[in-house]
Amino acid sequence: MATVAATIIDGRAVSARVREEVGREVKRMVAAGERAPGLATILVGDDPASAIYVANKRKACAEAGIADLHRHLPADSSHEQIAAAIDKANADAATSGILLQLPLPPGIDAPSLTARISPDKDVDGLTPISAGRLVQGAPGLRPCTPLGVIELLDTYGVELQGADAVIVGRSNLVGKPLAFLLLERHATVTICHSRTRDLAAVCSRADVLVGAVGVPELIGADHIKPGAAVIDVGINRTEDGLKGDVDFAAASERAGLLTPVPGGVGPMTIAMLLRNTLTAATLQRG
Ligand code: NAP
Repeated sequence: MATVAATIIDGRAVSARVREEVGREVKRMVAAGERAPGLATILVGDDPASAIYVANKRKACAEAGIADLHRHLPADSSHEQIAAAIDKANADAATSGILLQLPLPPGIDAPSLTARISPDKDVDGLTPISAGRLVQGAPGLRPCTPLGVIELLDTYGVELQGADAVIVGRSNLVGKPLAFLLLERHATVTICHSRTRDLAAVCSRADVLVGAVGVPELIGADHIKPGAAVIDVGINRTEDGLKGDVDFAAASERAGLLTPVPGGVGPMTIAMLLRNTLTAATLQRG
């Protein structure tokens, strides 16, 4: 078996660079007399994990000079009350981007509320219209985690044109949108899932292999072509701590490039949210 010492991708450094770039551009806009972009985070209820995620997003916004237009609604809010908060943010000129934090409390129809977000303010890129724009190759806002994966690959100079890219996972959040972003970049894309026959054989053809599964260390040495770029989106809490979908120790002797967990894809999601908010503000101003 060929042994390669993988270069470890520094997601924290790439994230910091993107956030600085966004901050610089926001400063330039404000200095030119324009209004700073604004992000409306909408949190419903008191789920502790969601509260932490939203707090982190708000903090990152403030650091980049993006206006923090947060709304916290009580856990017993009705569909109509949440819809009204979204409609208000849709109509507000100071709001460039809207992020409806999921999951919503039980009994609330999350897909229909997500779909209510104006596609031009859909900084999570998860509305059906944003998904359709991506599939058709039309301009629009793309989901943050897949954008973060592309940013890491670009930063580390991975050639995507003509590359064999294999994604394990077909969620609307990660796997499917990432497949279209890679297709847009002229990769040959294969999407694997729980019914894929001989996962290792399919994965081991990949020049670019992405794990977006949610199964700790599912992807091992047998799945990796020597020298491949291996991107681990998985975040799995185990008794032994945080684990990715890739067996890091095995992969680091086989991959050419490899993301750690934590410190790989994770920090990119917020960075791309900030960039999407800036992009949305710029597009809204024509
Ligand atoms: P998800 O909606 O649960 O989708 C998981 C996908 O993996 C499904 O398509 C599923 O196949 C497939 N799968 C499950 N077991 C498999 C197996 N044994 N072999 C092959 N495929 C298998 O998950 P997700 O939302 O995409 O998230 C995936 C992981 O990424 C999770 O660990 C999540 O925490 C993490 N994540 C990280 C970030 C970040 O910022 N870094 C952001 C989002 C998600 P089926 O469709 O056939 O069921």
